[in-house]
Amino acid sequence: MDRIADLKTRRDTTIDPLKPDVIQHWIDGATRPAADGATQVMVNPSTGTSGATVCLGTPADVDAAVASSRGAAWGWRKTASTERAEVIAALARLIRTNLEFLADLEIAETGKPPAVAASEVRGAAEYFEFYAGLSHLPQGEVINVTPDQHVYTLREPFGVVGVITPWNLPINQAARAVAPAITAGNVVVVKPAESTSQSTVALAQLATEAGLPNGVFNVVLGQGAVVGSAIIHHPDVRKVAFTGSVAVGQEIGHVAADRVLPLTLELGGKSANIVFADADLDFAASEAVRAFTTNAGQVCSSGTRLLVERSVHDDFVVKIADIARQIRPGTDMGPMITQGQFNEVKEYFSIARAEGATAVTGGMAEPIPGLEGGFFLTPTVYTGVDNSMRIAREEIFGPVLVVIPFDTEAEAIEIANDSDFGLVGGVWTQDFPRAIRVSEAIEAGQIYVNTWSTAAVQASFGGQKKSGYGREKGIEALNHYTQLKSVTLSLR
Ligand code: NAD
Repeated sequence: MDRIADLKTRRDTTIDPLKPDVIQHWIDGATRPAADGATQVMVNPSTGTSGATVCLGTPADVDAAVASSRGAAWGWRKTASTERAEVIAALARLIRTNLEFLADLEIAETGKPPAVAASEVRGAAEYFEFYAGLSHLPQGEVINVTPDQHVYTLREPFGVVGVITPWNLPINQAARAVAPAITAGNVVVVKPAESTSQSTVALAQLATEAGLPNGVFNVVLGQGAVVGSAIIHHPDVRKVAFTGSVAVGQEIGHVAADRVLPLTLELGGKSANIVFADADLDFAASEAVRAFTTNAGQVCSSGTRLLVERSVHDDFVVKIADIARQIRPGTDMGPMITQGQFNEVKEYFSIARAEGATAVTGGMAEPIPGLEGGFFLTPTVYTGVDNSMRIAREEIFGPVLVVIPFDTEAEAIEIANDSDFGLVGGVWTQDFPRAIRVSEAIEAGQIYVNTWSTAAVQASFGGQKKSGYGREKGIEALNHYTQLKSVTLSLR
């Protein structure tokens, strides 16, 4: 019986399926323990008690995974795009069939509310559905040069692509990179974050069940500094897609520069959400709260700097504080993923106090009654904030919002762009020429007008400035997982 079916059977019986004995790598279509047998017990962020036991990989495990992927690379690349599409679409169907099970894995590791976990898994299915439909697309062109010579171009896969993902939306981030990478004919070695390994392994298992040849989708578990680093340094890894913090992205960038390794870097954000006085203020307020509390603020594209036109600033702050106070940690909002992240966000409460900001709601580090063991926080809204403060400049990665007033459109744009990051920008106004002007002026990869969206799979997604480079999602991602080759033909 395969492991997914096994886990389901166990769920139907008496054993807790969310604690399989040891979560192992998925290499060459089978589970595999770490080469040296090392494991680590993770912590359940909802309770602070022991969670899953995960194997801790070594460079030898990365070697095995890369060798397996390399062995599968040519066969997958030469598989007809229609056949590839069939398998990728079958994987999408299996994700939907197993939605509840996969969401349970996410919940066990992250503590996120069931509706959030389910929507994340649905999003993972959408990636495979979307790219299955585009499997024919990585296409070249014919270029007529002279009457007796023409050139054609090919979009070729890189071969082995390393995918390194963070813990905030584990199965979704993995699917976001894996789906376009394998659609374009690459093979992947994925390393999820240590704290959130299960759903990525389950995804790879489902891929095998869907008919993906062994080795096309391998998963190696373990620490970034060991497994992640071994992937980046491996000479047979020809492209890396990294999603995570700026600091690690920079570290990887240095290695990639030495190796001349193509990178997609999806890094952090401190996105400005600009509310003009003429906006639908009630809707803007509810979206502004959603923008910084979804996934307890642990989203790269959170709207964490709210810029509000001064004439409506005070009323708007009352509106958002009222909405934020209704969010119940533990029910509507999950915990911080780890003790370390929990401590880091609480540290920003001290920084905010020292900087002289006012917590209109939240900002308390005390345990929440009934949720004492877990890493839960209440939504926090700060006013009295200047854009030069650390709480306005640094990515906190928790449910923390800073509100900054502005007087003119030009000032709003200046504050929005006065940031190291450039991931997302929001504009709220009924004045469409202004919406277009401001959208063009904000330095960010995505702009949301009168909404705080999570950009659709059909649209490209990525950063400007320190938020990264390269693009995931959309047709554009396929280009980032292929390299161009030109062939010159003499017709003489
Ligand atoms: P992180 O950078 O600490 O870790 C991300 C991944 O990199 C993990 O798998 C980790 O094990 C691995 N890693 C760590 N050190 C490594 C090294 N030296 N070499 C290779 N791999 C290494 O990030 P995190 O704390 O897991 O995630 C939060 C960050 O991710 C936030 O900054 C957030 O904004 C960012 N993020 C960005 C996007 C996006 O699309 N732009 C999406 C989600 C999260």
